[in-house]
Amino acid sequence: MSPTLAIVGAGAKAVAVAAKAAVLREMGVPVPEVVAIERTGVGANWEAAGGWTDGRHRLGTSPEKDIGFPYRSSLVPRRNAELDERMTRLSWQAFLIDTGQFAEWVDRGRPAPTHRKWSQYLNWVADRVGMNVVLGEVCRIGIDAGRRWAVHTHDRTVSADGLMITGPGQAERSILPGHPLVLSIAEFWHRAAQRELICADRVAVIGGGETAASMVNELFRHRVSTVTVISPQVTLFTRGEGFFENSLFSDPTGWDSLTIQERRDAMWRTDRGVFSARVQEALLSDDRIRHLRGRVAHAVPRDGRIRLTLKTTRGNENLETVHGFDLVIDGSGADVLWFLPLLGQDARDLLELGLGRELSGAALEESIGYDLAVTGVTPKLFLPNLAGLNQGPGFPNLSCLGLLADRVLGADLSGAGEPEPSLGRRSDAHQPVR
Ligand SMILES: Cc1cc2nc3c(=O)[nH]c(=O)nc-3n(C[C@H](O)[C@H](O)[C@H](O)COP(=O)(O)OP(=O)(O)OC[C@H]3O[C@@H](n4cnc5c(N)ncnc54)[C@H](O)[C@@H]3O)c2cc1C
Repeated sequence: MSPTLAIVGAGAKAVAVAAKAAVLREMGVPVPEVVAIERTGVGANWEAAGGWTDGRHRLGTSPEKDIGFPYRSSLVPRRNAELDERMTRLSWQAFLIDTGQFAEWVDRGRPAPTHRKWSQYLNWVADRVGMNVVLGEVCRIGIDAGRRWAVHTHDRTVSADGLMITGPGQAERSILPGHPLVLSIAEFWHRAAQRELICADRVAVIGGGETAASMVNELFRHRVSTVTVISPQVTLFTRGEGFFENSLFSDPTGWDSLTIQERRDAMWRTDRGVFSARVQEALLSDDRIRHLRGRVAHAVPRDGRIRLTLKTTRGNENLETVHGFDLVIDGSGADVLWFLPLLGQDARDLLELGLGRELSGAALEESIGYDLAVTGVTPKLFLPNLAGLNQGPGFPNLSCLGLLADRVLGADLSGAGEPEPSLGRRSDAHQPVR
């Protein structure tokens, strides 16, 4: 019997892994059974239903960074070229050709697709490969009597030899839940999807990353006098999108030779807390947008407004300042550790035993191995969203989904121990054995 790999969420990463597993199976290569447990539908976070977008905004990265990218497989010695060729049949371009959209896309200058179109692509791939998706919200994750993962939804349990967690967390988070003048990401996009016009004088958007950038981009068309983006960074940095920055994401060769500080610097420069060049260009032309530096400590409603207390520093001095807004949009919802509250005590104990220290974001991040799983933990727990620091900045996002699938499918799920990949070789660097 093949081992089972369960994936929480049927988004981009799950589709990439399921697609590569299906293609390998077609080639006669043994692979785990992949089952995704999804609360809404395949690619839901790229549609209004997922709460992270209204579906009309555009993808920041190129769509050619699709589920097979960078098409440099290294899983099956002497058959990697065949694997890559088969994967191209599931590429973004294959989708456009199959759905009669390719010529128009090229003639229009290869525009970035809307999030909704990207979701359609993910669904097309999932259909093609007969992806196994169990519908249900994962509400608890434990370990069963057979030392396998037990992934619980409200009405069923999936047992698995390996587990991968995906997605940015829950878009419903809000600093003042239920207050009409404070919107979560999901509430904001719900209104935008309904074509509801937001009318407010002073609007605050909490968060300086791509989620906040998308919302600021949307706010341009609403009736607002000022939009203040609140983030701890010195200013609203622009994502580095040149060849050298991009190639760090597509090919992590040499990443592990950098010091931790160098890696963190590179990630902050290119990924965390940055707005894309496209959004920055739009900001230039709109004098309603401002930036306020600080971390929001708390929010209180007073006199028909929301007063935000911001913590910041001036030199070595800690400062607290208070600012009033007519509407606050809490865009700080993305959280790579969103799954921690779902872990039962047995799962937490297992992780702490493997980590050899208390369970925390830093401990997990520092423990991610070559296969994108937590080192020393059996059954395997794959956390690609936390793999940036140790393995390369492209693994948490859409930058190298094909490579991500290689790393995960190359892992040994037999429980026999650490950590030689069961298929192929350890290095996916240049010149794979084809
Ligand atoms: C607005 C926005 C724009 C972005 N644009 C880009 C971009 O252009 N390029 C880029 O590289 N990255 C972008 N990102 C980052 C993006 O989140 C990741 O790159 C990518 O989506 C991660 O894929 P994933 O498979 O981890 O998650 P997702 O594609 O987000 O899929 C997660 C899935 O998990 C499901 N889910 C959540 N909770 C549960 C649960 N408890 N039980 C079951 N299912 C659950 C969701 O419904 C969803 O379908 C963007 C993010 C946002 C929010």
